[in-house]
Amino acid sequence: CGIVGVAGENISAGYLLRECLRKLEYRGYDSVGIATINDGKITVAKGAGKIDEVDLRLCLQCLRGNIGIGHTRWATHGPPTDNNAHPHIDCKDRVAVVHNGIIENYLELKEELMRKSHEFKSQTDTEVIAHLIEDYLYQGLEPYEAFKKAVERLRGSYALAVLIIDTPDRIYFARRYSPLIIGVGVDIVFLASDIPAFLEYTRKVIPLNDGEIGYVSSKTIHIEDMSGRVVDIPSRILE
Ligand code: GLU
Repeated sequence: CGIVGVAGENISAGYLLRECLRKLEYRGYDSVGIATINDGKITVAKGAGKIDEVDLRLCLQCLRGNIGIGHTRWATHGPPTDNNAHPHIDCKDRVAVVHNGIIENYLELKEELMRKSHEFKSQTDTEVIAHLIEDYLYQGLEPYEAFKKAVERLRGSYALAVLIIDTPDRIYFARRYSPLIIGVGVDIVFLASDIPAFLEYTRKVIPLNDGEIGYVSSKTIHIEDMSGRVVDIPSRILE
C-alpha cells in the first residue's frame, strides 16, 4: 500500500504518478489508481491488479494535468475490485481521496452521510472521507476548512492525499499513524509514503509527524502541527 502525489508546472502528472507508484510496489498491493485535475475537472483511472496490468487497460500515464494523486491499495475494507480501488470521489466529482490506513468510525459516518442522500459506490472505509469533505463544502466552508473539519471527524489511522476541484493547484494532506513525506523539487512538490517514490526527482525531504495537516502546490508548502501551529518549512527540510 502506498500513496503518491505530485504538483508541478508543465509536467505530465499521469506519467510521474505511475513512475512513483512503481517505486512503492515493494510495499505490496492489490489495486492501483490515480486522479489528476485537468481543464477544471477531476479524472480518475483505477482498477484491481498490478500497475502494469491496470496501465495496459487504462493508460495511467494518459491522464493529463499538472497535479494528481495516486494509490496502491492493500484492501482492508471491501474486496480488491475496480470500484474499491482508490481514488474515491464524492457524488459531485468535486473531491478525490487516496488513503492508507483504516477509518474505524466509517460506518457511523457513512450512515450519517447516507441520511443526507450521499450515494456510495464502494465498500471501503475510505469513501466516507470524500463525501464528508463534499458535505462541508456544500455547507459553505472553504476547501481547507472543509478538509480540516473532515479529518477531525476521523478515528483510526490515515495517510491522506486529497484533490478539491475548487483549488485546482493544491493537494491537501494529513497523517496519523501511517507514514507520509513531502519531496521538494524546483517548481515541483511530491507527496509519498516513502522516499524511494520520488528519489529520482529530488533528495530534499520533509518527513511529516503524526497529527500534521496541510497542503502543497508546485511552489507552496503549508503544514500545521497537532496543536494548529504553522510549521516553519526551511527548518524542516532534510537533504
Ligand atoms: N482501508 C482502505 C481500504 O481498504 C485503505 C487500505 C490501504 O491502506 O491501502 O481501501
